Amino acid sequence: MPEGKPYAQVIVDIASANTDRVFTYRVPMGMIVQPGTRVLVPFGRQRLEGVVLSLVQTTDLPQERVRDILEPLEDYPAILPPLVDLAREIARKSHCPLALALRLMIPSQMRSGRVRAKTQTVARLAIDPKHLSAALSANSRSAKRRLLLTLLSDGLAHPVSELRALVRDPMPALRVLEEAGSVTLQEEEVYRSPYQHTEPLGEDPVLTAAQQEVLGEILPAVRSGSGRFLLHGITGSGKTEVYIRAARECLVQGRGVIVLIPEIVLTPQMVSWFRGRFGEVAAVLHSRLSAGERFDEWRRIRSGCARLVIGARSAVFAPVKDLGLIVIDEEHEPSYQSENNPRYDAREVACFRADNERASLLLGSATPSILSFAKAQRGDYMLLEMLSRVNDHQLAAVTLVDMREELRLGNRGMFSGLLVQRLKACLDAGGQAMLFINRRGYAPSVMCRKCGEVLTCSQCDVKMTFHQADRHMHCHYCGQSVLLPTACPACGSAYLRPVGAGTQKVEEEFLKLFPQVPLIRLDSDTTTGKDAHERLLNRFRSGQARVMIGTQMIAKGLDFPQVTLVGVVLADLTLNLPDYRAQERTFQLLTQVAGRAGRAFMPGEVIIQTYKPEHEVIQAAAAQDFRGFFNQEFARRRQLLYPPFTVIARLLCEARQEEQSRAVSRQLQQRIAQKLLKQPLLKRRVLFVREDAAPIKRIMGQYRSQVLLKLLEHRDSEELFAFLNELVQEPWPCKVSLEINPGSLA
Ligand code: ADP
Ligand code: ZN
Ligand code: ZN
Repeated sequence: MPEGKPYAQVIVDIASANTDRVFTYRVPMGMIVQPGTRVLVPFGRQRLEGVVLSLVQTTDLPQERVRDILEPLEDYPAILPPLVDLAREIARKSHCPLALALRLMIPSQMRSGRVRAKTQTVARLAIDPKHLSAALSANSRSAKRRLLLTLLSDGLAHPVSELRALVRDPMPALRVLEEAGSVTLQEEEVYRSPYQHTEPLGEDPVLTAAQQEVLGEILPAVRSGSGRFLLHGITGSGKTEVYIRAARECLVQGRGVIVLIPEIVLTPQMVSWFRGRFGEVAAVLHSRLSAGERFDEWRRIRSGCARLVIGARSAVFAPVKDLGLIVIDEEHEPSYQSENNPRYDAREVACFRADNERASLLLGSATPSILSFAKAQRGDYMLLEMLSRVNDHQLAAVTLVDMREELRLGNRGMFSGLLVQRLKACLDAGGQAMLFINRRGYAPSVMCRKCGEVLTCSQCDVKMTFHQADRHMHCHYCGQSVLLPTACPACGSAYLRPVGAGTQKVEEEFLKLFPQVPLIRLDSDTTTGKDAHERLLNRFRSGQARVMIGTQMIAKGLDFPQVTLVGVVLADLTLNLPDYRAQERTFQLLTQVAGRAGRAFMPGEVIIQTYKPEHEVIQAAAAQDFRGFFNQEFARRRQLLYPPFTVIARLLCEARQEEQSRAVSRQLQQRIAQKLLKQPLLKRRVLFVREDAAPIKRIMGQYRSQVLLKLLEHRDSEELFAFLNELVQEPWPCKVSLEINPGSLA
């Protein structure tokens, strides 16, 4: 064994600002640690966990100041060297301590030892089966031992827990057999697999011409580990099969694969497709797993048992050794951006890993993000297209319904005459339907008919949503709920009325029209349990439920061949968001939800209800014309100087008192102005610096104000970001955070 180096540079796991310092510890004789090994170290009077960054031969510190590592926490490096690089990169880019970035690389339950590997005792025959009869007669006095020997005669490992189901209290007998050398007993790790029921491996379908063509580009790149692809494939064009073939090629090369999917709702379907083709080699990581399952899947990946990982955003940190390919499905989804500290964008992380580990990158979507498509046009990604559906199924025909016209005709309900008629026809013909509205709850606000008062949350500056089931008002920002008051808090009148509609209202209205039709509702209220979404989706897949009502959860990825009708109850909701991405988001949602219809042999139809049928985004979505939309939106962003032409930086201040937060944001603005005054070159890159209350003035009792900067994309900007980062770290009297191109500007 090579002589270990005597000192280790350790980053200690406390996330306070000054711990980016690396501490030197001695590696006691005989202890083996490597870069990436988690260790327990003395720190002041505490014992803390840390990560070894490197091993060194000497130290300048006086010997008596150097303390010993107490013990390694695992006998392998939990954080692979490329993931240490990645943590450094995230710390640098999102301006957070390295200790915090390193936490992304392991399941949180592993810290402070909250989960442990589960083991079980297994018994095996230790003798040649030829000698079984001799062993049986040697145990002629014990029927139990003979039975055990017979059960073990297949030579396989049998968990004692299973033997217990067949033989009462088998342990003493097994011990006797072990002593006699006929049986071995061993502790083995068991993995708590979240998806037990594995079906036999499925067959490969014959590739379509379009699939063959794009794979013709992808496979050679996967072999050389160099490809950067954006796959624009319309809904139902068969992108998943492309991912599967690319993944297999990568596995054949002996390298690992990460497949990212945006939403938990999609996991069972994607997982069953991948497990159906790769079996146990595929592991699953997402936040709904239990702590034990998560830890076990993580170890299956870390040990190399599982070489393909499917998971949501954070699976981009999976400890896949020799990573060869990262696939990002539905790459346009906002959920790939994490707003938690440390903030990161899984797409950027994937790019970094791909470069750093010489892996290929494959982004796919029917509605690529403006950002990614612009990159593809610039040549950063190779653009691949699949513009027809598998087996030449047609995209569903889309009809726009002008809801203003419905009102004029005296229809005050949520469903237009056409939608009701088509729903009836669809259900009569034995089809299934989906109804989409991007708002959960019953009604987004409650208003007093007499004085116009709108009920708001006591802690947040937002309207409260009414939920019919518990007759409570819920705040979707802080989670607080209160019983619907009987009288208006402002004028005392009894005329409080829910206004507008969410999924629960759609459900109620639908059941008034079609009382006999079984349905499921899919939104974050109905999918809180661990398997709730899987159970609901199964009811729909099996045909037990005929209609699915849901929020953006149902808009993407789901593949239900029996769905022939999709109704968008109100298309305009996202269009009204105060965000420069409102158009992009609306186009994506409408196109994706329209893509759920007519995916198999029955033609599909889509009805989009809107108050703005002439709006160009609604028009582009109705035509399912991505290129047209991209050109129009790209031009608009250039004209109005929005990303990707500019960078938006925000300094957010949060305080109990409104005045305090405003005072801080005003000071921040002044400091920035001073800096820019001194550096005229930098100033030329800055389009504006604006101080104001945030669009949502208060959340959870905290008043929020902001300084918003818009800058031209330029390498000089890095200097400004560094300045802003130092600025927010100063000891301000309230919480201040820096966000670069935040996912939400609320
Ligand atoms: P997308 O993700 O592009 O919307 P999917 O990957 O969900 O499309 O594929 C749509 C449907 O077509 C799925 O039911 C899938 O099983 C089927 N499919 C994909 N490729 C083929 C093929 N080569 N032959 C037959 N069916 C296919
Ligand atoms: Zn009132
Ligand atoms: Zn609230």
